[in-house]
Amino acid sequence: MRKRIVAGNWKMNKNFLEAEELVAKVADALETRKLKNTVVVLCPPFPYLELATDIACEAKFSVGAQNVYPDDSGAFTGEVSPVMLESMEVEYCIIGHSERRKYFHESNEFLALKLNALLKHNIIPVFCCGEVLDERNAKKHFKVVEKQLTESVFHLKKDQMAQVVIAYEPVWAIGTGVNATPAQAQEMHAFIRGLIAKKYSKKLADEISILYGGSCNAKNAAELFSNPDVDGGLIGGASLKEDDFMGIIDSL
Ligand code: PEP
Repeated sequence: MRKRIVAGNWKMNKNFLEAEELVAKVADALETRKLKNTVVVLCPPFPYLELATDIACEAKFSVGAQNVYPDDSGAFTGEVSPVMLESMEVEYCIIGHSERRKYFHESNEFLALKLNALLKHNIIPVFCCGEVLDERNAKKHFKVVEKQLTESVFHLKKDQMAQVVIAYEPVWAIGTGVNATPAQAQEMHAFIRGLIAKKYSKKLADEISILYGGSCNAKNAAELFSNPDVDGGLIGGASLKEDDFMGIIDSL
């Protein structure tokens, strides 16, 4: 059954005490909620993963990392491996975020390696895809997303593909306050599901969670999530405040 997911991508925000406070507040707020078939994931920066996994084992959320290096170990100063994440009981990991593509020049081919590495260590990849504004204006957005999925994801076998979560994040919507309209999100999510159906099977496509990301907040979440192919959200800015984040979870 397709899971509904709200994942908070904290990016490079919060000091240690602030992180502790936000994790505790989200844990408390979730305690009274009934989360049927809904998964909440917190993706804090690497140094705070342990505090999050410590609380997560008794709370109603899972923990995700924001990045991973594709090798198990070795001379890669500053990097974090999937072995490390697995050993800390990190269940999810974001890859392919537009900020990593832009500032760290991560290619589709490199992301394919990260995807393989995560699956090898039983970590659920949250694979981000999405077009920049010029590409949408040139009506190339479907082609761009198809290329990202083809070059990074569609080499997977069926059973591996079944583990992957996709996040459609139009780059022009990330952190801008301009979200995709519900119709734009639904159109792209249906397109992505169609590609998965064509490559694998309709049954598999129907089981995969496709999240929307890009200026999603407590005000617009309900309308975005009401679309049949939008299975939740990857949330940046609005995941940094407990009230805003809970408002989005309550919209699911
Ligand atoms: C993100 O960074 O994944 C994101 C969706 O950011 P925001 O919600 O701030 O647009």
